[in-house]
Amino acid sequence: MANELILIVEDSRTWLQAIEMSLNKEGFHVITAKDAIEGYHKVITESPDLIISDINLPELNGYQFCRLIKNENATSYIPIILLTSLGQKQDRFWGLKAGADRYIVKDTSMDALVKDVKTLIDEKKDKARRKPPKSAIIDIKDAAIMSKVNYLFDKLLFESTIMGEIKNLATFINDRQGLLDEFFKIMTALFDYKASGLLIMSEDNTALYLDLKEGMLSDENVKTVKDFYTNNIKIEIAGGMEYNNKKIHIPYFTESGLNIQKERLGNIFIFNDSEYDITNRNTLSLVGKELAVVIKLMLLYEENERLSITDGLTKAYNRRYFNTQIEKEFEKAKRYNSKLTLIMLDIDHFKLLNDNYGHQQGDIVLIHLARALKENMRNIDFIARYGGEEFAILMSGADEKEGAIVAEKLRKKIESYPFPAVQKGAESLKVTISLGVAEYSADMNLTDDLVKSADSALYKAKEDGRNRVKVHE
Ligand code: GH3
Ligand code: MG
Ligand code: MG
Repeated sequence: MANELILIVEDSRTWLQAIEMSLNKEGFHVITAKDAIEGYHKVITESPDLIISDINLPELNGYQFCRLIKNENATSYIPIILLTSLGQKQDRFWGLKAGADRYIVKDTSMDALVKDVKTLIDEKKDKARRKPPKSAIIDIKDAAIMSKVNYLFDKLLFESTIMGEIKNLATFINDRQGLLDEFFKIMTALFDYKASGLLIMSEDNTALYLDLKEGMLSDENVKTVKDFYTNNIKIEIAGGMEYNNKKIHIPYFTESGLNIQKERLGNIFIFNDSEYDITNRNTLSLVGKELAVVIKLMLLYEENERLSITDGLTKAYNRRYFNTQIEKEFEKAKRYNSKLTLIMLDIDHFKLLNDNYGHQQGDIVLIHLARALKENMRNIDFIARYGGEEFAILMSGADEKEGAIVAEKLRKKIESYPFPAVQKGAESLKVTISLGVAEYSADMNLTDDLVKSADSALYKAKEDGRNRVKVHE
């Protein structure tokens, strides 16, 4: 140790002398400056091994001085200890954010300070050999220093403004379309591009949203993107021009991944016909970093929404969601005098099946029943698990005749459906269902009237011997 050059920037003579003495005793060479401007000159001309700086300094304060040093390649390697009488947490926070290596409160003992000096110098030696001063390329006129400080401040403000804008997108986590619209507005304001994309990956719903400006994203590029990510993605035009098959090659591309720790959530990218510079790329990666958090929140929200309306076992909609859905459809039928039919169905002798084969087997039958029902319905029909082994199907725009046809089709399908057996090697099981059909009529006032009608038809089907369809009369 020793021989290292330490710069102390401190406007109080008392402190300056105290620190200088302690460091001299340890064999360090010390140079001093009474403010940050003078300090910066000395950094450039003398290339110290470590800087100790006060925070409360005239004109340029310690934070700004620290930023200045840490943002310049030629000086960023120099360790900085910020020294101050301020003991507030925020000061410490801001000091470290400014790039300081240590933050020491003045009433800490000199021994502690010397110890930190030694540690930082050792660490620095490990990292890199001392770099030669590059005074020739650094303008150290006072005005240039101040303008550099202003530039850094501006850059910081720019970055935190972008971060703020992206963070604000979190108000749209319950509205994917709204979020996309706002996101591409920000992208348009920040970058020049022909096409911009946001890829959102989730287990069964990976989608690429595109914003296309004049000139179109070419098939070729879409293919590249598809191959790069996954072929299973759905592509949606979120804004701008329509995607068409014109082959326009847009060669310049830059992207940023959306990652939360190790989890990959997607990607953002921009295409253009001229190259993106480092500022653009840095800004895009800043956007990506902030956006990842927002997308994660949105995916969690969507997942939660999905879970709150689906039945865990069968993945059909749950009873609660059925209630909101039937209210909506009922209103619609009433207002527009449109048709609405409800089918209620229930597994025959399900208790027996549970008793004979066990509850686990019963669960498997329920899962497969829901699956088989879904596969054999129109896409617009809505299916929910109404109760234990009872399901409800809402058919918007259908009358009881159409309902009866669908019900009969379902009955037949289930009757011949091979329900897998839990027991290895055992034959598949046969199960039947009974169904009740009821159509909405203008004299019904409550959704419950419709449910009761379908239920009583179902009851009749059971009474008449099960495995059959009954229409409410
Ligand atoms: P019916 O033909 O008259 O409908 O006779 P059933 O035995 O099907 O009707 P019941 O209402 O007497 O019995 C329904 C059975 O459904 C009783 C209950 O244990 C079973 N069940 C309800 N929910 C579940 C479930 O989630 N899993 C399993 N395995 N069984 C269930
Ligand atoms: Mg039953
Ligand atoms: Mg039942």
